[in-house]
Amino acid sequence: MVARLAQLLPDALHLTDGEALADQVVEADAAGQHLAAHLGGRQLDAGVLAQALERLRLNQRDISRLRVAIADDAVGGHLDRVDGPGQLALDGRDVDLLDRSGHAEQGTLPAVRILDERVERYIHGLQPERSETMAEMEAAAERDGVPIVHWETGRFLAVLCRTLDPVVLEVGTAIGYSTLHMAEQLRQGRVITLELREDRARQARGFFERAGVADRVELIEGDARDTIEAVNGPIDLLFVDAAKDEYRGYIELAEPKLSPGAVLVVDNMLMSGEVALPEGEGGKWRTESLTAARELNAELLDSDRWLACVLPIGDGVAFAARR
Ligand code: SAH
Ligand code: MG
Repeated sequence: MVARLAQLLPDALHLTDGEALADQVVEADAAGQHLAAHLGGRQLDAGVLAQALERLRLNQRDISRLRVAIADDAVGGHLDRVDGPGQLALDGRDVDLLDRSGHAEQGTLPAVRILDERVERYIHGLQPERSETMAEMEAAAERDGVPIVHWETGRFLAVLCRTLDPVVLEVGTAIGYSTLHMAEQLRQGRVITLELREDRARQARGFFERAGVADRVELIEGDARDTIEAVNGPIDLLFVDAAKDEYRGYIELAEPKLSPGAVLVVDNMLMSGEVALPEGEGGKWRTESLTAARELNAELLDSDRWLACVLPIGDGVAFAARR
């Protein structure tokens, strides 16, 4: 038997017709229809949801586990298919099996992801030891909720810096994590990095001193839309990672300063995978940011000025060379 589970978290459902919900939330797959088609645009009655779950002898906690377990592949052969965002088809209902996943209460399966979870875990497992300061920055970012690049993206930038030994213009320093990945690899090259927030700039400067790269890094405080103008080129590598809906503006402002062979790296261009969802779906990322990323991806890929590709590194990276 195949039971189709739609988005079962109460805050992900909008249902008014309580009775219908009892049949729709979890139902036997006789007609082979997709549940999500029934679910759109209504309000949820949490009580009814509970009833529906009870009929399957699942409770909200089990559902949570179920979603996590699927994410973790604990249900392996039982997973029939994933039909689309937030829509999971599960063969069988062996809730005990889910207990063994050891991931109860951990949260929910995201509606979409960039990499298969196993592949992501594998890649993470390859990470070598980092320098003391870099590890400290990761801990500080985690503690204070600072949005730094994924380590893989930092390493990608590091590789570019190793080969190109470029003059880098980075838009969005935060506490200097991506800056350090790059600066560690430079010999003649240097990084000019722009940060709006005074507190973060100060923290970043401290880290650059401790990491011994302060001589290679120039941090300019202020709004990049004002400060880019005064930056001295030529810039060989432009790395964009500040306010998501301002990306296009930064690139345009920086373009006159780029060297003929300059490359562009733009972070967060897949936004946890949510750029791939239909307009209006998602959840983690603001609609404005998603729209901006979709537009910029399309524009770069179709540009006369850039030869671009989008890579599933970290949170998604657009990588481009000047034409
Ligand atoms: N590249 C960093 C993370 C940057 S997070 C790393 O991976 O380590 C984005 C940063 O951009 C934030 O610190 C934010 O304050 C800054 N920012 C946002 N808008 C900006 C703007 N208009 N000019 C300069 N910095 C900006
Ligand atoms: Mg980023």
